[in-house]
This record gives sequence, structure tokens and C-alpha cells, in this order.
Amino acid sequence: EAAGLLRVALMELVVSHAERLAALNQELQRSNEELDAFAYVASHDLKEPLRGIHKYATHLAERAAEGTDEESKERLSSVLRLTVRMDSLINALLLFSRVGRTGLRLERVDGNELVAEALDLLGGRREETRIEIRIPRPLPTLLCDRVRVREVLVNLISNAMKYNQREARWVEIGWREPTSATPLALYVRDNGIGIKPRYFDQIFKIFKRLHGRDEFTGGTGAGLAIVKKVVDLHGGRIWIDSVMGEGSTFFFTLAPESTA
Ligand code: ADP
Repeated sequence: EAAGLLRVALMELVVSHAERLAALNQELQRSNEELDAFAYVASHDLKEPLRGIHKYATHLAERAAEGTDEESKERLSSVLRLTVRMDSLINALLLFSRVGRTGLRLERVDGNELVAEALDLLGGRREETRIEIRIPRPLPTLLCDRVRVREVLVNLISNAMKYNQREARWVEIGWREPTSATPLALYVRDNGIGIKPRYFDQIFKIFKRLHGRDEFTGGTGAGLAIVKKVVDLHGGRIWIDSVMGEGSTFFFTLAPESTA
């Protein structure tokens, strides 16, 4: 009888735990949605005054041609440059806030096609950097949101191409077999500059950048935040393996880990 009571008590505990977890999950999702809505409204509202600043600064710069000293002209062109930069940051924030808004459209996708599409989108930049693309073995079929995961690949491959200063650069795109506990993982590996372990988590935060714009042009620091959000939406996980001066590997899964 005691064993029976214990079993009932245990069952109750498990159920109440599961309920609490579900409630917490819901709350988390709600606050994520609120954050996205906030980012969306804020970036939208910021764009308008910025457009005004850009317009007036352009106007001043045009008139400055006549009688203004060099220093003022330079400052004016800095204002213009900065407004353009701010505009691209705001656009990145808008993009980031939109990722979760439409939900996922899951379908079976041929991994090879997806990679080919991502590489196509990177076409021009690939020629510029003369990077060697390695795909050691054909990719499997994936259950995922095609457009979003293509975006993940574009972001990871473009970073792999960008943060590299070698003569002979390569990017490898591959996958790791699933195990009983972990789902299949895709990876993007480079022989680039590497990332220090203490930044492994930080670089997934929006606008976090480790390198100055003078060193590596372009980029807003939103790419990896978007990547992580897409992976999270799939219930997956993303992690880094890297050795400074040797290269980095970004692994990601697109399904929850098995809890069994
Ligand atoms: P960005 O627009 O700056 O590329 P990301 O969010 O894509 O923004 O990346 C954030 C930062 O992480 C980058 O600025 C860079 O410092 C670092 N990083 C990303 N990918 C790599 C990589 N493959 N190798 C080395 N550093 C990287």
C-alpha cells in the first residue's frame, strides 16, 4: 500500500512539474514575442527621424561646396556616413525582429540543393575571395524551414569566407551522423582567424562584433543573432569549436535533443 501511495505522489509531482514547465515555456515565448514587437516598432520609428537627418545633411553638404572650410566639410560627410551606417543597423534590427513573426514552414528539403542555393546567393562574393568550397560527402534530407535555413547557411558561409586572412582559404560544409541522444548536426568549417572560447556565446547576441570595420568590411553584427533565432525556432542548438589562428567550426542541429 505504501508503494502505491508513493507511486501516486510521484506521478503528481511529475505532472505538476510538467505543467509548471509548460507554463514557463509559454511565458518565455510571450516575452520573446513582446521583445520582437518592441524591436519592430522601435526600428520602424527610428527610421523616420533618421531619414530627416540624412536629408538635411545631404542638403548642407551640397551647399557646403561653395564657401565652407575643409574641416566642416569632413564633419558633414562623417554625419552622412554615420546616418547610412545607422540605417543599416536599423534594417538589421528589423530583419531580426521579423524572423520569428511568421512561424516556421517545415518541409523535407534536400540538403545538397539547400547548400547549392546558399552558394548561389553568395556567388559574387565567392569569386571575390577565391575561396575553395569543400563538401566531403552528399548532404542528407532535412526537415526544416527552407528559406530560413538557407539564410543560416548564407550567414555562416559568408562569415567563414570573411573572417579569414590566409592565401589558401577554404570552407567546408558537412554533417555529423545523429546518435541516440543528438539529432543530425550540420557544420560550416573554415581555416580562418578563429574565435576565442570566451566569445563563443557572446557573438550570437545582436550587434556583437569582435572585429573593427577597418579590418573586415561590412557586417552589422546581426547575422549570428538571426542564425541562432532560426536554430532556436527549430528546437535545435548551435555551438562553436575553434582554435585561434587555425579556424572555426559552427555546428547546428534542427531538432530537439532526445531526453530519453
Ligand atoms: P557580422 O555582421 O559582424 O559578420 P555576425 O553576427 O555574423 O556579424 O558575427 C558576429 C561576430 O562574430 C563577427 O563580427 C566576427 O567578429 C565574429 N565571427 C563570426 N563568424 C566568424 C568566423 N567564422 N571566424 C571568426 N570570427 C567570426
